[in-house]
Order: sequence, then C-alpha cells, then structure tokens
Amino acid sequence: MAVELWQQRLKESVTTVDELAQRFGIDPEPLREVTARYPLKITPGYVDLIGEVGDPIWCQCVPDVRELAVGGYPDPLAEAHYSPVPAIIHRYSDRVILLASNNCAGYCRFCTRKSKVGSSDHGVSFREQREGVDYISADERIRDVILSGGDPLILPDTVLEDLLARIHAIPHVDIIRIGSRVPVTLPERITPALCQMLRKYAPLYLNTHFNHPRELTPDSAAACAMLVDHGIILGNQTVLLRGVNDDAATMTELLRVLLKIRVRPYYLHQMDLVEGTAHFRTPLQTGLDIIRTLRGPVSGMACPHFVVDLPGGKGKAPLLPDGLNYRHGKAVITTSTGEQVDYPDLE
Ligand SMILES: *Cc1c(COP(=O)(O)O)cnc(C)c1O
Ligand code: SF4
Repeated sequence: MAVELWQQRLKESVTTVDELAQRFGIDPEPLREVTARYPLKITPGYVDLIGEVGDPIWCQCVPDVRELAVGGYPDPLAEAHYSPVPAIIHRYSDRVILLASNNCAGYCRFCTRKSKVGSSDHGVSFREQREGVDYISADERIRDVILSGGDPLILPDTVLEDLLARIHAIPHVDIIRIGSRVPVTLPERITPALCQMLRKYAPLYLNTHFNHPRELTPDSAAACAMLVDHGIILGNQTVLLRGVNDDAATMTELLRVLLKIRVRPYYLHQMDLVEGTAHFRTPLQTGLDIIRTLRGPVSGMACPHFVVDLPGGKGKAPLLPDGLNYRHGKAVITTSTGEQVDYPDLE
C-alpha cells in the first residue's frame, strides 16, 4: 500500500535526544534516563513551532528530568478497576472509552496515560478491539462510544473505518466520539479521504486538544475546517499546564481563536495526579481564577467546564469559582453523586 504523506511526515519525527541536542544545542545526557522510561516523539510540524528552549511548545513535547520525580499515582483514575475487557474503560453507565490505539502522533510530557502510551506492553490488539466492540454490543445502556487511546487517528483509514462501521451498526449506540490530537500535532493526517470516510458515521464528534494559542496554525485551522465541512462536530479539551497556559490572557486568546475556527471549547482539565507530571500541576485555585476571569468578559460559547478527575476513579467533577471547599485546610470536592472527596491539592 502506498505510504501517505502524513505517514511519511510521521516517520520524519524527532525521536531521540541527540536530534534535539543537535537542533537546539542542549545537553542530551540527563535526558537519556527520561526517554528510557517515557517515549519521545515530536512531529516535524510541531517541532517547527518551538521558538526557543523552554517555551510553551517545548515544555509540552521535550523530555524533562523532572519526569523522573517520584510521587503521584501510576493509575490515578483507577482505569484498571473500570476495565471489564482490556480495550474498554466503563465508568459511567451510558458511555464507554474504547482504546483504539496505543500510539500518538507525538507524545505529550503531561499525558495522563504516560506510563502506557507508546509502550508495546500496553498495545491494543485487533482481538482486544473486537472484544471491546462485542462488550458494547452486549450492553444496551451504552449510547456513546469514545474512541481514545493513544490517538485513534494514527490508525490507517481502513482499520479505523472497520472499527467505526462495527460500532455504528450497533442499534443502541447513538453517537461516536473520537479524541485526537492530530489536528494539532499532525494536521496532514486530516485528508479529504479521511473526512469523507468519517462523515458516513455521523453523528460523529471529535474532541481535539489545543493547549496554547501558538498551536493554532494555518495548517491546524485548515484541518479543523475540513472536518467541520464534513459534518464532524468539533470540541476541544485543554489541560491546564503550569508555565504553558496557566494565565488568563493566554487562555482567553486560545479559547477565542478556537471559536473562530469552529472548535467549541469543552473541558479545561486540572492536571491529573500522574507520576512524572508534578511539574505541570497548578493549584486548583489557578483554574478557578481563570474561569472567574473569563465569565462575563468572554462569550459563554468560549468557556469550557473546569473539571477535576478525582483520584480513585471517583469520576470527573466540575469546579465552579465558588465550588471549592476546605475542611481542616484541605481541599474537599463534591462528586456528582454528592460524595465528599478529599483532594490532595498543592499546598
Ligand atoms: C471523561 C470520561 C468520559 C466522558 O465523559 P464526558 O463528561 O461525557 O465527556 C467517559 N468515560 C471516562 C472513563 C471518562 O474519564
Ligand atoms: S496525544 Fe493525548 S494520549 Fe497522546 S500523549 Fe498526548 S495527551 Fe497522551
């Protein structure tokens, strides 16, 4: 089969610290231990967005020795507990996550699944995917299937279509969602052929993942436009990252430009308590302050829900500026079922 342009571009990604050293003049030695543990991959387009060492693009994709810090939880969301079969995470009765791929176009240093993505030990086999589809078929409560991973759009069109067609054919499934960062990291992947295939499986929602206004390039805007023009409804999930987007001005600009390119901001995620990502975390109050600043001056259309995924698999809890409580000086969050959960907030 002919290699497509996006596959060729993907092959040209930066995958070693020596390439980074050559290009940016940094010392590669301290980073070898980091890449021995967590994979490195930066697409040619994304590496070109780096303006200088340590800038908001750099921080998201270049390994950092702080990733070796101990602490946090390897599986903070207790996914294993909610995984009836290996490719499925079923925490809410009416919707499931189906792990469609374990690879991404590029690896984000702050990834919630950083101990799993890109690792061959956690690959999702064809058989496991089929088992996942069978699981969805057998549970009539499931209306909403979220293809995630990893990045489902890293799959070739034929493989992706096979999966979408099987899910689309299940009578009780109302909608399919795809979570993908390729509009940001590999916009070449959004081809007319892909869009024409995807439109057959409407209603199809795609939540992408822009974190910084500098990621909104003409190429990524064109990729989003092509998707929307094919009837795919776009949302965006942003992770609140220290030193990247944790100020109201940066966030406001990001959200406004997203609306302009027809991408509706959906979630602003508090950084999960994942091992190796502590240097990205902000106190809960930072997100609340940003939300408070947005409300009013910025269109409600542009305002995402600020959510915290509670440790122990207790689920996502939306936080509002007046919704954070303290008990004996410790943060307490109320879940959707009314349970009060202690949250290990930054002191
Ligand atoms: C976030 C999440 C979903 C989707 O939740 P929505 O709030 O509907 O976007 C589904 N399953 C799991 C396990 C999740 O973490
Ligand atoms: S694209 Fe998503 S799944 Fe992949 S490394 Fe980044 S955050 Fe993780």
